[in-house]
Amino acid sequence: MKTTIPPPDAHQELREGMRALCRGFDAGYWQRVDHERAYPEEFVTALTRAGWLAALIPQQYGGSGLGLAEASVIMEEINFSGGNAGACHGQMYNMGTLLHHGSEAQKQQYLPAIASGKLRLQSMAVTEPTTGTDTTQLKTTAVRKAGRYVVNGQKVWISRIQHSDLMILLARTTPLAEVRKKSEGMSIFLVDLHRAIGHGMEVRPIGNMVNHETNEVFFDDLEIPEENLIGVEGQGFKYILTGLNAERTLIAAECIGDAYWFVDKARRYASERVVFNRPIGQNQGVQFPIADAYIETEAANLMRFKACSLFDAGQPCGAEANMAKYLAAKASWEAANTCLQTHGGFGFAHEYDVERKFRETRLYQVAPISTNLIYSYVAEHLLGLPRSF
Ligand SMILES: Cc1cc2nc3c(=O)[nH]c(=O)nc-3n(C[C@H](O)[C@H](O)[C@H](O)COP(=O)(O)OP(=O)(O)OC[C@H]3O[C@@H](n4cnc5c(N)ncnc54)[C@H](O)[C@@H]3O)c2cc1C
Repeated sequence: MKTTIPPPDAHQELREGMRALCRGFDAGYWQRVDHERAYPEEFVTALTRAGWLAALIPQQYGGSGLGLAEASVIMEEINFSGGNAGACHGQMYNMGTLLHHGSEAQKQQYLPAIASGKLRLQSMAVTEPTTGTDTTQLKTTAVRKAGRYVVNGQKVWISRIQHSDLMILLARTTPLAEVRKKSEGMSIFLVDLHRAIGHGMEVRPIGNMVNHETNEVFFDDLEIPEENLIGVEGQGFKYILTGLNAERTLIAAECIGDAYWFVDKARRYASERVVFNRPIGQNQGVQFPIADAYIETEAANLMRFKACSLFDAGQPCGAEANMAKYLAAKASWEAANTCLQTHGGFGFAHEYDVERKFRETRLYQVAPISTNLIYSYVAEHLLGLPRSF
């Protein structure tokens, strides 16, 4: 087939480097880790050793100091290769909170070790079981007492704890009743997981639809040294929000990688599978949905690179990051559905990878932010409609 998917762009050299690494981890590898519900340790180690996960860490702290555009291409290529960047994307963006709001001493202490992979900062604990998306109502508290903070409460869906050394934690440090705005009075902490687990922090894995390591977390008088507070006490919610733009844009890129994978897989199968004496792709009923998925993916990709260029220029990009995530998650899900339909019964067989990627890409309409919350952001902040919650 002459057409190249994804179409060549300004990042070809980077893409070729990533493809060389990803070729070492074929469909059989991803099928095996999915089947065993195992962590893709060999893949993540290879990625770390090659320096790709340190893309966003400035060179002065041992990273490669690349922009969000390049970082997003790295994530996209993992998913386009048939893999799943969800196993390690946290290592790329969670450190942003430390980089942008941590003290120089904290950056010197942690960033070089994160860049080299000696320390993994793959987890961020925000979501709680009783308050869900309504983050400002979260119930986990951190109370300052004699040089430390004492944490009590509960979190849910906290990913990759088993493959992290450190975790970012959002907790309320001033009671809701005592703050001027509900977004104030929350703080972020860096939790040393090796010291915390079993000493006030309990972790229970949640079995789920995809091979994604995620957990319930319980805090019962967990003590965190006060030097692990990041930035100013009470400003944590604002810090988390600024970090989310990078997270959303990187996940949009993963969805774009998935979407191109589904389109490519569908068009190949549709060209080869012969039923009624002709390739199924000769039927417009089969080829139009694939063309539709490609068009939607290309459009989402434009918004993804718009978000990246604003972020890299230091401009506000909340709207674009949210819209990129929305468009890309929608495009990848529709491409997944089309790819599965194109494969008929074979779409359900593990060895074709379609059902696995179908399950994996579905997550992104729910996490890290659900579609309805993006609608409400756009309605309120871009269209000036009344606030709905
Ligand atoms: C596999 C997985 C991994 C995750 N990893 C992490 C992690 O590492 N760290 C972390 O902090 N969180 C994590 N999450 C949590 C994720 O961010 C949340 O699941 C997501 O934000 C939705 O929150 P919720 O599940 O509480 O849904 P809820 O808030 O209960 O919402 C349920 C549904 O109702 C809709 N809804 C709620 N309120 C409104 C409203 N006012 N208007 C319209 N619709 C509304 C939502 O859009 C959603 O569709 C993960 C989740 C999953 C499934």
